[in-house]
Amino acid sequence: MKNRAVAVFGGTFDPVHYGHLRAAAEVAERLKVSDFRLLPAGQPPHREGTWADAYHRLAMLELALAPYPDLTVDEREVRRDGPSFMVDTLASIRAQVGDAPILLCLGQDAANGLNRWHRWRELFDLAHLVVMTRPRSRPRYPQDSAEMFRERRVQRTRDLMGQPAGRVRHVEVTQLAISSTDIRRQLAGGRDPRFLLPATVLAYIRKHGLYGCNESVGKKG
Ligand code: ATP
Repeated sequence: MKNRAVAVFGGTFDPVHYGHLRAAAEVAERLKVSDFRLLPAGQPPHREGTWADAYHRLAMLELALAPYPDLTVDEREVRRDGPSFMVDTLASIRAQVGDAPILLCLGQDAANGLNRWHRWRELFDLAHLVVMTRPRSRPRYPQDSAEMFRERRVQRTRDLMGQPAGRVRHVEVTQLAISSTDIRRQLAGGRDPRFLLPATVLAYIRKHGLYGCNESVGKKG
């Protein structure tokens, strides 16, 4: 039986790749979540802007997920003007889902830097955290967040499902050493990142000349 939890996997998805997609699929399956949303950041406050416009990042996510109706795109951050803070995003989701558990999914690298997020302590009041393993990222929490993660850690999915928020579960996913940075570098350098991301997404990137790619690379003839 599926859980009534809502999973939210935020990121810049610049572009989306199989590291994101496989992790999402495995968490959805393992935690039996039927409402799993990938949520592209509009104007991410944690770094110096993005490379592709929100419009393109959204379009690429939609292409990647088109064959998989159980994984959906939540557009609320890209539809909002100005910087998007996860704490505000989760509050707006919470207002819609009542007391259903919300699972904020993030990779280990992102979890390690959680204490730099805007009003990060409040995230635990709004959602559970599901931390997914990622190659080359070990758990390394700064002192203030280490305590939060330690105190709130649970081992079983059912410990998350009995309450709306406040726990942390670590989930091992298949280790795919893929990053958007590497894909962008390959494209800008005239190389072909095929098989690291869906072919439909790569075709979109080439069609729109994103990330400094050359449209002719990777085409036959
Ligand atoms: P960039 O290289 O531009 O920083 P990225 O590949 O890290 O991008 P993001 O969109 O920044 O992708 O990541 C969104 C979320 O997905 C983060 O929580 C990140 O930890 C997680 N994530 C990204 N790639 C992987 C992967 N290969 N395996 C597991 N989690 C991943």
